[in-house]
Amino acid sequence: MRNIDGKYKHKRILVVEDEADIVRLLSFHLEKEGYRVVSAGSGMEALEEALDNPPDLIILDIMLPEMDGLEVCRRLRGNDKTAFIPVMILSAKKEEIDRVLGLELGADDYMVKPFSMRELLARVKAMLRRLEHITISPADTGSIKEKEQEEVLKAGRITLYPERHQVFIDDHLCNLTHKEFVLLHLLMTNPGRVMTREVLLDRVWGYEMEVDTRTVDVHVRYLRQKIEEDPAKPRFIETVRGVGYRFTGSPE
Ligand code: CA
Repeated sequence: MRNIDGKYKHKRILVVEDEADIVRLLSFHLEKEGYRVVSAGSGMEALEEALDNPPDLIILDIMLPEMDGLEVCRRLRGNDKTAFIPVMILSAKKEEIDRVLGLELGADDYMVKPFSMRELLARVKAMLRRLEHITISPADTGSIKEKEQEEVLKAGRITLYPERHQVFIDDHLCNLTHKEFVLLHLLMTNPGRVMTREVLLDRVWGYEMEVDTRTVDVHVRYLRQKIEEDPAKPRFIETVRGVGYRFTGSPE
């Protein structure tokens, strides 16, 4: 049995699925890897659990009774308390439209049933690891004084707090998904530099072998709608035709 790094152990994962067999299977394997698992059999139950006790990651089935997983995802992203929790969508549907819709609604990852358990575990671990880079882990929180000295990235109306995992447009907190945040952070720390779709894919989605470059475009489009005054004439994220994107507002 593989051991995951100690710091990822005891992370809480919320599994949202109405099929008991799949819940049991996921719980068994996730717990074997050292995670704590809670489950919810309906969308409402999942939202209540996520609000009362936000987990570190959510595995969310699309096919649920009453409220489907896409609607659950939309509501999670619409609430400050749950907006930043990484979400992996599970679905029996193979259509590209569900995958794109899921990502547009703010899911961070997507797997089609029947999935490989080994791949799911690898992706869960990767999602948690990436989060570790941009949030304060209890071990290295440091003193309050150190926290006050947190590096802040600024460009025009945009202020990004890397450790707090927050972005403000003027004084308004911007609801970014986890991937949108990572993408914006990467672009802002490389101002003026052309970032190819391949580089962005590698740095933001690295482990997801079958994700294609259109995923980058979908996320940039949504990011623009959230941070640009006129998404049709972006001021911050410039398209470099046929190549990728460039952050043009140089951080002050
Ligand atoms: Ca289901």
